[in-house]
Amino acid sequence: MSDVRNVIIIGSGPAGYTAALYTARAALKPLVFEGSVTAGGALMNTTEVENFPGFREGILGPDLMDNMRAQAERFGAELIPDDVVAVDLSGDIKTVTDTEGTVHRAKAVIVTTGSQHRKLNLPNEDQLSGRGVSWCATCDGFFFKDQDIAVIGGGDTAIEEATFLSRFAKSVTIVHRRDSLRASKAMQERAFADPKISFVWDSEVAEIHGENKLSGLTLRSTKTGETSELPVTGLFIAIGHDPRTELFKGVLELDGEGYLTVDAPSTRTNISGVFAAGDVVDHTYRQAITAAGTGCSAALDAERFLAALA
Ligand code: FAD
Repeated sequence: MSDVRNVIIIGSGPAGYTAALYTARAALKPLVFEGSVTAGGALMNTTEVENFPGFREGILGPDLMDNMRAQAERFGAELIPDDVVAVDLSGDIKTVTDTEGTVHRAKAVIVTTGSQHRKLNLPNEDQLSGRGVSWCATCDGFFFKDQDIAVIGGGDTAIEEATFLSRFAKSVTIVHRRDSLRASKAMQERAFADPKISFVWDSEVAEIHGENKLSGLTLRSTKTGETSELPVTGLFIAIGHDPRTELFKGVLELDGEGYLTVDAPSTRTNISGVFAAGDVVDHTYRQAITAAGTGCSAALDAERFLAALA
């Protein structure tokens, strides 16, 4: 059994590393579980990030995360590239268990496990991520000026992304598996009225084409199985996100969509001493800067909580 730490942080995206930086600079010696597969979080899977303030020319996602990691480490954060596989958050001393079965103890825990965008699970999808394939119009729309774009999905997010993208794109084709949208009526009407937006109903993506850059899609009818080609250089996949909250089911309060709930604007969860930040809480903004911002808030909330114990 380890010594009792001040704070353990679970997750290593912008929220986790920012919480690590702040708690390290507050001399709390945080222990950070970075995850075994995707240490650095969602931005490790992208290329240019042009909307994180402070980088005039933009920065590559992995470089941004390496910088955040090194900055947290410089002030004494202890980083472990491993997963947390179990938690007990009920008592004054919280425990988290790693993949080797070692139990780590702390007075406070900050959860920043992020969320996973749903994929089409097609060959080429990961390889072309950041090279024409994207999950975030706010992040990447600007790169697709005057291009032909496909948006996959029929919910609010898909229609919002399509409407946003039509400001930059030459054309936006919404591909949906059914013959009607789930999005709100107002949003649908805006999309139907947009001359740049067209629809391919009852269809799904069968193949994604391109070597180093997306060159087009093969679509398949969900009714007849017939295929057709859609020559696009942008593909936005908007079929939903899954917050990484498996570990916390039955432990922390989750909302109807499985996200952790906090006592906003604070980052306090329903258990004293447990805080949550970033995309595991946020289904609205989902940006690196908002994740970093709430990671900072969680660190400050944890600091105040620990100070009150002393
Ligand atoms: P994440 O970055 O998702 O990090 C969560 C971390 O928690 C991961 O490292 C994971 O391994 C770890 N973890 C999960 N479970 C466990 C566990 N049990 N034990 C240990 N660790 C665990 N935003 C922008 O602002 N600009 C952009 O240009 C931009 N581009 C994007 C491009 C892509 C392809 C994607 C997918 C997202 C992009 N985003 C962009 C969104 C941005 O990446 C996210 O909003 C942000 O990363 C969320 O940060 P987070 O810290 O909450 O979670």
